[in-house]
Amino acid sequence: MKQLPENYPGRILVEEYSQALKERTLSAIQASAVFDKFNFPLMVYITAWNHKDDTIWYEFVGQQFMDLLESNATDISTVFRDSIQDQRLFHYTDLSESEVEEEVISRRQISDTRHNLREKVEKNKQVEAVYQIASPAGRIIWLKDRGRVEVFPDDNITLTLGCLTDVTKEMGQKELLEQIGYFDDLTGLPKRNIMQKLFEVRCGERQRGYIEAFSVIMIDIDHFKLVNDTHGHQMGDFVLKELASLMTLLKRKEEDIGRYGGEEFYGICRGEIQSGVNFAERVRRNIESHVFSHNGISIHITISAGVASTEEMDEGTMSDLLGLADNRLYQAKHEGRNKVVGNQ
Ligand code: GH3
Ligand code: MG
Ligand code: MG
Repeated sequence: MKQLPENYPGRILVEEYSQALKERTLSAIQASAVFDKFNFPLMVYITAWNHKDDTIWYEFVGQQFMDLLESNATDISTVFRDSIQDQRLFHYTDLSESEVEEEVISRRQISDTRHNLREKVEKNKQVEAVYQIASPAGRIIWLKDRGRVEVFPDDNITLTLGCLTDVTKEMGQKELLEQIGYFDDLTGLPKRNIMQKLFEVRCGERQRGYIEAFSVIMIDIDHFKLVNDTHGHQMGDFVLKELASLMTLLKRKEEDIGRYGGEEFYGICRGEIQSGVNFAERVRRNIESHVFSHNGISIHITISAGVASTEEMDEGTMSDLLGLADNRLYQAKHEGRNKVVGNQ
C-alpha cells in the first residue's frame, strides 16, 4: 500500500490480507473521510472483526465521533466501551412486516453478550442498536447505530460500515413517557388511562374506514386472592409480572394490552368479535398450561375473559363497550371460570 490514509488506526491495509479486502477497505475509508469532512450530522465509522483471534478494531473513525468522546482513533474503542451506560438492540422480528422488538441490555450484560451480538449481526447483515453514553463532559447522550455488514470469508474478516446519529431527544421522549406514568411499574404494561386513548384511536380508524370493527377484552385472574393467601404477596406479584410477559409474547400487531388494575388486564383488538375471542382464547389456553415457578414454588393459574365488540352497538362509548365486556366476564366467572365469553 503506497500511501496510508492520514491517522490510519486500522490493520487491514498494513497486514497480510487479500487485495480485494484491502481495496474495498481503502475505498470505504476514502468515501467515509470525504463524508466526514462535509460535516453532515452523522458520525461515520468502519470496524473490522477478525474471526480467527476474535478481535475487533476501527478501520476508520469520523472526526465528529472522536470530538464527541474527546478521544483519538486509537483509544476510541476503549473510551466508547467504557462510556456505554445502556444498550438497546432493535431486532426485526419479521422483516416483511418491519416489526421491531426492543431488548434492553444493562451495562453489566454488554460484555457477556458481545460475542452473541456479533454472530447475530453476521447473520442479519446489519447492525441496529441504540447506546446511551456518558460523554467525558458528563452529558448523557443516546446514539443510534446503524451499519451494514460485509463478510470476507477468505480473510476471516467482517467489515461493518456504519454511522451513529444523536437520538437523545427522541429517547428522552420515550423516557418521559415512562416517567409520566404511561406504564405500570409492576408489569411494565400500559396503564388503565391509556385504554381510553387506544379506544379513541381505534374509533378514528373505524370512522375513516381503515377497520370495520374492534373489540374490547377484560381479563381477570381466577381465585387470585388464594395465590396471595397461600403463597404470599410476592408470589402474587410474580404471577402478575409473568402473566404480563406471556400476554406480551402472545399478542399480535393488531392487538394491544394493558393492566386495568389489580389482577385485571385489558385488551383492544382490531377486527370483529371473533378476533377478540380468538385473542382471549389464545391467552386462556396458554395460561392454563403454563407453570408459574418462583422461589421453589410452582403453581398453575387460570383466567376468565369477557369480550365485546363495536359491531354489537351503533354508537357505543368506551364505557358501554367496557360494561358489556365486564358483564360477560362476570358470566364467565359464574359459569365456572377458566372461560372466555363473547356474544354467543
Ligand atoms: P375471582 O376468580 O372471582 O376473580 O377471585 P379473585 O380471588 O381473583 O378475586 P378478588 O377480587 O376477591 O381478589 C383479587 C385479589 O387480587 C385481591 C388483591 O389482594 C389481589 N391483588 C390486586 N392487586 C395486586 C397486586 O398488585 N399484587 C398482588 N400480589 N396482589 C394483588
Ligand atoms: Mg378482579
Ligand atoms: Mg380475580
